[in-house]
Amino acid sequence: MKTTFAFILITLLLTAPAHAKLNVVATTADLGAIAREIGGDAITLTTLAKPTEDPHFVDAKPSFIVKLNRADVVIEGGAELEIGWLPALLDQSRNEKLAAGAPGHVVCSKGVPLMDVPATLDRSRGDIHAAGNPHYLIAPSNAKIAAQNIAAALAEVDAKNAETYRANLQKFTVALDAKMAKWQQTLAPFKGASIVAYHDSWPYFARDFGFKIDLFLEPKPGIPPTPAHLAEVIFKMKSENARVIIVDPYLNRRTAETVARDTGAAVVDVTQFPGGLKGTEGGYIQLEDYLVNALAKALAANK
Ligand SMILES: [Zn+2]
Repeated sequence: MKTTFAFILITLLLTAPAHAKLNVVATTADLGAIAREIGGDAITLTTLAKPTEDPHFVDAKPSFIVKLNRADVVIEGGAELEIGWLPALLDQSRNEKLAAGAPGHVVCSKGVPLMDVPATLDRSRGDIHAAGNPHYLIAPSNAKIAAQNIAAALAEVDAKNAETYRANLQKFTVALDAKMAKWQQTLAPFKGASIVAYHDSWPYFARDFGFKIDLFLEPKPGIPPTPAHLAEVIFKMKSENARVIIVDPYLNRRTAETVARDTGAAVVDVTQFPGGLKGTEGGYIQLEDYLVNALAKALAANK
């Protein structure tokens, strides 16, 4: 193992171009999209998880170790989102630039007020949101914080392009603010609407856009639906007049369809990752556009 590693390392050193761009690795596609906004042409970007993959359970390929070994910067969501797969990869990549606390290791949850932080830490019952809800990035207000964290780190690691990163951050923030006003306008008629989600990954989105998303097909994050739990959800959906169920690409759409049949609700495909659904490949703002429009349409059609 040691010899193989040394060999890979030497090969990498010999083949690295002299004036390479900053080599940035993002764990998930949403972080990758924001890193691209900030890094622009000054970085090369690799995203580890596929946009259609569950961010909690990413298939950690051996090639990820090589990618992390040659990286100048790694960007992770943090709040334990990648705890099941990233720490072992980082360990095996033996890259000091990415060590915990190093400027090349960006944890984007820094400065994000996490929701649903449990009073006592308890993973024994299978809850995979043990440190609070880690799906914060889908809320535009949090995307701004993540973008600031990324810009600060890139500027520190690659000082010669610091001005570019700061300018790109400013551009992204202004664009996001302008869009936010439009999104709020589009969704204004649906304020307070009750939406059912498969997995509890939407509380920050609900907060930013004024929805009520607190019924889930999973009895607990990461625990598959049971008939008894679904019966309870169906009962609550009827009493709350919840007419829309949202499902991410990596979850079981059939379960959602069954519940929809019993309640007359509509199933709406959603994603938190640019590229997770057709029409969301263009980046973070296009993804939010897609979600806002899809929900506005479904809520208007299913009152
Ligand atoms: Zn989750």
